[in-house]
Amino acid sequence: MNTKPIIFFTTLILISILSFFHASARGTDYSIGKSQNKKAKAGLKIKFEEEKHKFTADDKDLIAKIIVQSEKQVRALLPELAKDIKVTVTAIDRKIEMVGGVTGRADAPGEVLIEISRVFPGGVTAAAKTALASAIFHEFHHLWRGWTINGNKFEQGIPIAAVNEGLAVVFAEKYTGVISEGNSYPKEVSEWVKEIMVLPKNADYQKWMMQQHPDGRVSIGYKVGNYLIRRAMTKSGKDVLELSNLSPDEILKLAGAM
Ligand SMILES: [Zn+2]
Repeated sequence: MNTKPIIFFTTLILISILSFFHASARGTDYSIGKSQNKKAKAGLKIKFEEEKHKFTADDKDLIAKIIVQSEKQVRALLPELAKDIKVTVTAIDRKIEMVGGVTGRADAPGEVLIEISRVFPGGVTAAAKTALASAIFHEFHHLWRGWTINGNKFEQGIPIAAVNEGLAVVFAEKYTGVISEGNSYPKEVSEWVKEIMVLPKNADYQKWMMQQHPDGRVSIGYKVGNYLIRRAMTKSGKDVLELSNLSPDEILKLAGAM
C-alpha cells in the first residue's frame, strides 16, 4: 500500500517520457509491474486509449488506482491469475447506467478492454467510482477461468456462456458489494432457464446473451447465469470460488438445470 505514491510518481515520469518520445502514440501506458522496462512485458499494464477522449490526469490516477487495487484483491482470491495483464481503458458515449457506467471485455488471455461511459451522470469519474472495481473483478474472473474471446477454453452454447458469465457476476457482486440492475433476474427466470437449455449449440449469441431479444428482454444469459450460480450455491453449499473450479455441466447439474 505504502509503495503506491512511489508507483504513481514513477508512472507520471514514465508518461512524460513516453509522450515526449512518442507524441503520435495512440495511447499512454501506465506500467505497474516490478520492471519499468518497456521491452519486458511484466506485471499489470494499463493503457489509456485516447483517440476520441482525453482522460484528465486525475481520472487517470483514479482509474489506475482502482485497477491496481482490484488486481491485488482478485489475485488474493484467485492466485493462479496470469501475472502479465494488459488493461486498455477507453471512454464511450453509450448509456450503460444499468451496469454503473462501466463495461468490459476479456479479449484474450491476459488482455482486457474496459469502456467507461462519458454520458454516465457525473461523467467518467463517477462511473469509475461506481463500477470500475466490479468490472475488473468480472473480467479478471474471465481471464482466470479462460473465458476469453480469443483463446477461449470452452465449447459453444448459451448455457455454457450463461454459467461463465454468472460466475463472474456473482464473484464481482460478492467481493465488491456492487450489484448491477443489468444482471438482476425476474421472478420468472426459471422459465428462461428451460428456454436456454433447449437452444441449439450455435444459437445467436447476441440475441441470447448480449443485447435485446426480439421480445424485448435484455441480457437474458447474464440474468439466467446469475440465477443458476446462486441456485447451485444454495443447493450444494459451495461458494462462488468453489463453483468456479467446476465445469459448466457440473454447475448446471448442481443448479438442477440438467
Ligand atoms: Zn463477462
